[in-house]
Amino acid sequence: MRDKECIFCKIANGDIPSKELYEDDEFKVILDLGPATRGHALILPKNHYANLYELPDGEASKVMLLAKKMAGQMTKKLGCDGFNLVQNNGRAAGQTVFHFHLHLIPRYKDDGQTLGWKPLEPTQEELEEIKKIITE
Ligand code: 5GP
Ligand code: ZN
Repeated sequence: MRDKECIFCKIANGDIPSKELYEDDEFKVILDLGPATRGHALILPKNHYANLYELPDGEASKVMLLAKKMAGQMTKKLGCDGFNLVQNNGRAAGQTVFHFHLHLIPRYKDDGQTLGWKPLEPTQEELEEIKKIITE
């Protein structure tokens, strides 16, 4: 389940070195080379899945347990003040490497980073319409 051209397949399976924080049979956790903050890391499945839509349920459930464990350990060791989990799917959502990964981003008071959006102001009718589109 590897893609020969995929950089994260190569990293997750040890063909390219990385700063590893954790490894098991299914996942590797590495430091991001272009970190948003001190300690920014990535959880990579060893199998190649382009994004969340392709990620099987087994890995999907395990990845959140691993994120919880890593967030606890990193918060304790780094002394960060908060923590973001970020996961991008598709170019429109900011994905640049098309092998599923979950960002683990320690946050520090005054770290100068913003992970945000400008809130829209939908009417109750618009919210109801969206609810129907998604659920019906
Ligand atoms: P995305 O924008 O796809 O959600 O995130 C891709 C992330 O992978 C970026 O934060 C980027 O800094 C990181 N990245 C890209 N190439 C490499 C690499 O070769 N090694 C490591 N450790 N991180 C990488
Ligand atoms: Zn891959």
